[in-house]
Amino acid sequence: MSIKLENVHYIYSPDTAFRKQALKDINLEIMDGQFIGLIGHTGSGKSTLIQHLNGLMRATSGTIYYQGENIYADKYDMKALRAQVGLVFQYPEHQLFEVTVLKDVCFGPANLGLSAEECEQRAKEALKLVGLKEKYWQKSPFELSGGQKRRTAIAGVLAMHPKYLILDEPTAGLDPKGRTDILDQIASLHELGGLTVILVSHSMEDVAKYADRLIVMDHGRIRFDDTPKHVFRHYKTLEEMGLAAPQVTYIAARLREKGWDIPEDITTVDEAKNAILKAVSSLKGGQ
Ligand code: ADP
Repeated sequence: MSIKLENVHYIYSPDTAFRKQALKDINLEIMDGQFIGLIGHTGSGKSTLIQHLNGLMRATSGTIYYQGENIYADKYDMKALRAQVGLVFQYPEHQLFEVTVLKDVCFGPANLGLSAEECEQRAKEALKLVGLKEKYWQKSPFELSGGQKRRTAIAGVLAMHPKYLILDEPTAGLDPKGRTDILDQIASLHELGGLTVILVSHSMEDVAKYADRLIVMDHGRIRFDDTPKHVFRHYKTLEEMGLAAPQVTYIAARLREKGWDIPEDITTVDEAKNAILKAVSSLKGGQ
């Protein structure tokens, strides 16, 4: 099962002086169960791409298949697609509007035509999944902290029971603790709940830590699509695209240049720690 894009192009304002081709010949298959990081410089086409995945934007040309079915076919059920491919926009808390947190999270399922009881049950379950404590459920979303608002908005999408969860910079503007908490929750939804995740991020550290596949966009095209470790080996090319590797990758490279016995493909702090400790203990052993 997958979402598959074939030769997808997208052009904003095609017949005007503002014509802008934002997607150029995108070929991509997102398999169920993956955790995908999507990176690229500002304006590289990430937001445009993710809005194609649930049919919110329609390709200028090319085809998208959801579970093998062409989503542009006549009578294709776009509403069902949008429920299954959940999209959390940047700063999703701007879209909170109900009087209580619980009602806000109920909004999506209610739109699917579910009974009030079922909506509430799903909303409660989703709020638990994102780790928002029960004492907040009857509060106004506007009384919550930034991180809590973000969780509420994510719960609103989860309450639709999507198979795919696409998040556009879910941690933007949050403090370090809030960032880690939210990403850890998402990772556990992926691991325990089998949710396929697509995470748009500007943090190389985050995608290195959480993603098993990394897609790099550059001027509307996919430049790399591989494991994070393989992609970050090309850090010089990434730099030319206005990106970089995680900082520990550079530290590890410098240590290696200085003769330390450290592997080439370090991308997370934990890996760096283990490799450095190992190198230090072998130095000591050799004394
Ligand atoms: P990213 O999410 O990677 O920052 P976007 O998908 O937002 O990139 O933008 C891709 C390109 O399309 C950029 O050059 C951007 O300026 C252009 N673009 C985005 N939205 C619009 C729009 N509504 N009208 C015209 N051009 C747009």
